[in-house]
Amino acid sequence: MEAAVSIKIAAQVEKLNAHLLACGLKRTRQRDLIATLFFQEEGHVSIEELCTKVRKLDARISVATVYRTMRLLAQSGLVHSRNFVGGHTRYEVAGEHHDHLICTRCGSIVEFEDKQIETLQAAVAGRHGFFILSHKMEIYGLCKDCRLHQHSGEPAGLRSPIPAKS
Ligand SMILES: [Zn+2]
Ligand SMILES: [Zn+2]
Repeated sequence: MEAAVSIKIAAQVEKLNAHLLACGLKRTRQRDLIATLFFQEEGHVSIEELCTKVRKLDARISVATVYRTMRLLAQSGLVHSRNFVGGHTRYEVAGEHHDHLICTRCGSIVEFEDKQIETLQAAVAGRHGFFILSHKMEIYGLCKDCRLHQHSGEPAGLRSPIPAKS
């Protein structure tokens, strides 16, 4: 791993530990390991995927511990949890605001940000005298790859939604 990347991850783990301290919780080696592995990941990670990585390094860490650690990370604001339709909860590092395109066939997730959409949302809310605290835009459909395969096999729309990763 690049030095700059590992310093950034270490800083994020320190922020988690500051949050734990403020909550009266102890720093543990297991939590540090889970958080470090999560911050090494990119994109939208499920508990199952994270567990697989964690268990390779320490088979004694339980699913419950991974789950609780991710909840603590979400509470600290360092991480956002996402509940996309048809899938398990996924976690991503909190950062710049963005929205998501979700493929209902292969489960791939694309992030996007569109200034016009953001502006329009604010305008719609304004017309209703509504003050926006947050929003999430999730667009479901078929990704480019799945649309290409659509022509060679069964109709994509008939397949089951986002497959559960085992
Ligand atoms: Zn797809
Ligand atoms: Zn995202």
